[in-house]
This record gives sequence, structure tokens and C-alpha cells, in this order.
Amino acid sequence: MNYEQLNDKFGDYLDKSMTMLKEVGLIDLLPDNVNCFLYEKYRGRTIAQAVNYIGTDRWEMRFCIKHFETWVKENNELEILDTMLHEFCHMMHGGFGHGKQWLEYVGKINEKFNMNIQRLG
Ligand SMILES: [Zn+2]
Repeated sequence: MNYEQLNDKFGDYLDKSMTMLKEVGLIDLLPDNVNCFLYEKYRGRTIAQAVNYIGTDRWEMRFCIKHFETWVKENNELEILDTMLHEFCHMMHGGFGHGKQWLEYVGKINEKFNMNIQRLG
């Protein structure tokens, strides 16, 4: 699978996770300025990160390309959506870290879609 194909898949899963956020009423909590992309520089265990440019509402979701490619090959939609939704919840108001507010956001998603988004991963 080449980069372009992977990137297309990445876009599809982003759309899907956005739809899920809509269905639980969380979509409006996302900042306006979010750039999501496959990231080639992670080494080791890091799967994804939500990165904020301090003092702005500018966010990035960096998703490890190696993990993504593995999960696409395995057709492991659950891990991909779990990771994306985990990171999106960090971008919502009060969602920094894995505190009370973040747990409340992921709790809504877990309940609605019978998922198990957790602090780790
Ligand atoms: Zn996290």
C-alpha cells in the first residue's frame, strides 16, 4: 500500500470518527483549526498525539504511520477509531491530560458505541 492509498484511508477514518462525534453530540467541542496527518517520525511505542500550539486554538493530530498501516492491513477499524477519538477528546474543552473532563467525553463515546477507549494507548 503506497502513501497515497494510506492517506486516503486515513481520511476515510477521520470522516467516520467525526460522524461518531456528531452522533454523541461532541462535534461542536472540537476546535476549528485541527490538522490531522500521518506522522513518520515516531519511534517505538508512540501511536498518536494531540498537539496544541500554546496560546492558540491550533491543533494537530499526529498519527504514527507504521501503526496505522499495520491496522489497515489487519482491517482493525476499532483500534484506528479508538486512537482517533482518544486524541480528539484531548482537543475538547478541558480535555487536556486524562482527567475528569476527558473521561466524561470518552465515556459518552464508549457508552454509545460499546467501545473501550482508555487512558493508555
Ligand atoms: Zn491520551
